[in-house]
Amino acid sequence: MARRRLYRYLRAMTDAVSPIAAAAPLAPRTEGRQRKPDWIRVKAPTSVGFSETRKLMRSLNLATVCEEAACPNIGECWTKKHATVMILGDTCTRACAFCNVKTGMPRAVDPLEPEHVATAAAELGLEHIVITSVDRDDLPDGGAKQFVRVIEALRRNTPSTTIEILTPDFRNKPEAAVEAIVAARPDVYNHNLETVPRLYPTIRPGARYYASLRLLESVKRLDPTIFTKSGLMTGLGEQRLEVHQVMDDMRSADVDFLTMGQYLQPTPRHAKVEEFVTPQAFGAYAAIARAKGFLLVAASPLTRSSYHAGDDFAKMKAAREAKLAAGR
Ligand code: SF4
Repeated sequence: MARRRLYRYLRAMTDAVSPIAAAAPLAPRTEGRQRKPDWIRVKAPTSVGFSETRKLMRSLNLATVCEEAACPNIGECWTKKHATVMILGDTCTRACAFCNVKTGMPRAVDPLEPEHVATAAAELGLEHIVITSVDRDDLPDGGAKQFVRVIEALRRNTPSTTIEILTPDFRNKPEAAVEAIVAARPDVYNHNLETVPRLYPTIRPGARYYASLRLLESVKRLDPTIFTKSGLMTGLGEQRLEVHQVMDDMRSADVDFLTMGQYLQPTPRHAKVEEFVTPQAFGAYAAIARAKGFLLVAASPLTRSSYHAGDDFAKMKAAREAKLAAGR
């Protein structure tokens, strides 16, 4: 990689944003960017594991949300060979104000992608894999069939790997789209609410808060054994009580696992950071969320949907077993 390109890449990574896109025009260019506090700083990715993971993804023609969303944790995750694969291409049909993934008209769905994902899982030796995708509003099923094909390929090739999917909202798509994914039985179904309902028109205008909530609720209703998970970004101008209300809404949809992390502005054209939430405030949010009954809560400035997902899956399973044993 040329020196200037490498610099731009590293800069983007330390400025990263939460995975998953939704929809909207980018915010107007903001004048000046807030300096990041010390607790946000991350190390540049230089390990052998990082290079090997990158090489494997390129050789299999796979996109990752770690790179496309310029995730700040890429150095740590890829050193451990934990990568989150982004299926259905690298181009999203929406353009959320917070998301760094490229927007435009996506290419045709790659029929080899499911086998390539399974090969990556085998080569990386993954016990737990997270699969996400861009929004594909151009496809009649929003890309649901490709999620099913990927799950089936993983079950065939690496049967001991547990599978977590992080899907779009499938807004305006037939209910059969989500039903087909649930029938393929991923271990964890994640869909991020991203922010409080008041901010949807500016941050996630292509999505609808209650439609996303209904998606989570319907997954649990269709198959209560699948763990459900959802995430929120902080620092976009949300109020504390609004966040508490979103937690209540998630619990009413029986969401098992809540993740919360700091929003970081990927470029000056994206929504600006209104606030850097302190680690102590994240701790307070986590305590409230636990009291509201989530099986598991991960809340810290650098928490992202797929950060430490394998370890968290094991914790979530243990928490469910303990709850069942206690008869709660
Ligand atoms: S936190 Fe998730 S998106 Fe970020 S580098 Fe790790 S696996 Fe990739």
